[in-house]
Amino acid sequence: MACAAAMLWSGISYAINPVRLDTIKTHLVVPRPALEPLKSLVTSSDAPIDTLDTVNEHVKVIIYGDNTWQYYKTPDFKKLSGVYDNYWTNEHPNPYKMSLDSLPSSWSLWLVDSLDQYHCPLQAEVYSRGKFGMRRGRRHQGVDIPLKTGDPVYATFTGRVRLSKYYGAYGNMVVIRHENGIETFYAHLSKRNVEVGDWVNAGDVIGLGGSTGRSTGPHLHFETRYNGFAFDPQWLIDFKSGTLRHRLFVLKKKYFNIYSNYEQDFEDEIKNEEDDKKEEAEKAAMKYYTIKSGDTLGRIAINNGTTVNALCRLNGITPKTTLKIGRRIRVK
Ligand SMILES: [Zn+2]
Repeated sequence: MACAAAMLWSGISYAINPVRLDTIKTHLVVPRPALEPLKSLVTSSDAPIDTLDTVNEHVKVIIYGDNTWQYYKTPDFKKLSGVYDNYWTNEHPNPYKMSLDSLPSSWSLWLVDSLDQYHCPLQAEVYSRGKFGMRRGRRHQGVDIPLKTGDPVYATFTGRVRLSKYYGAYGNMVVIRHENGIETFYAHLSKRNVEVGDWVNAGDVIGLGGSTGRSTGPHLHFETRYNGFAFDPQWLIDFKSGTLRHRLFVLKKKYFNIYSNYEQDFEDEIKNEEDDKKEEAEKAAMKYYTIKSGDTLGRIAINNGTTVNALCRLNGITPKTTLKIGRRIRVK
């Protein structure tokens, strides 16, 4: 069985020789990140029973008790990306303080690959009043998901804990930064299991749900941010089914607008796409004719199966308009 021979992250390609898994006399279940959309890619809740080296000294293969396996990147390798150095402080939820104008209009971000996995932070339908947007005159920059106090809350992706403390209205909060630069926020927790600087894998229980801070009942307030700007987490995750919508996510700057949200904009984007298709079809159906010596509107109309009136409408002319030789007129 050949494992991925080369993989990509942070835009750099690393060649890794296939690990000789065929030398292991057990049946291995291979995670299949190629399937979309993604359910949890964390293969096992069983304890690891063995670790295999790969040619890349920073990448290991972990074998679990139920014979599933996954890759593991060592922290010193993760640190190389630099994303955990810049704007790194546990003081504020937003250490970036960037101006929107300075940012490009979109980014293409890998959410998962064969080394970095996904787990739904908490699977349940988002409260209808807990969506991303304005709420009672305040910016609600995340989604609220129902839970019972003490329910486990999971790290969504692999990453490093940037903030873990009681922070005002958020109550007990954990912020994890991921290698693609996205940060995930987990608020109102009753208990925090991780400290600043901890490396976490997708699916690690980073805390327990609760109702600390400004909260009227137990729920998870979950945010996704990039460069400090929040966007609707539903762009990434279908919380009801627990699936990740994409492996590669095109984050648009307009999603940072508090009035932009997944349900609204997704419909708009579908509508725009349909309009574009209609326009393209109309354009494709357009037909032009170049006027030659001796042509009359009547003859052009007959030759193209249309009428003089229709030709006039399409071209903004009248039946009396002089037809200049060489002029292109639209006939359909
Ligand atoms: Zn909330």
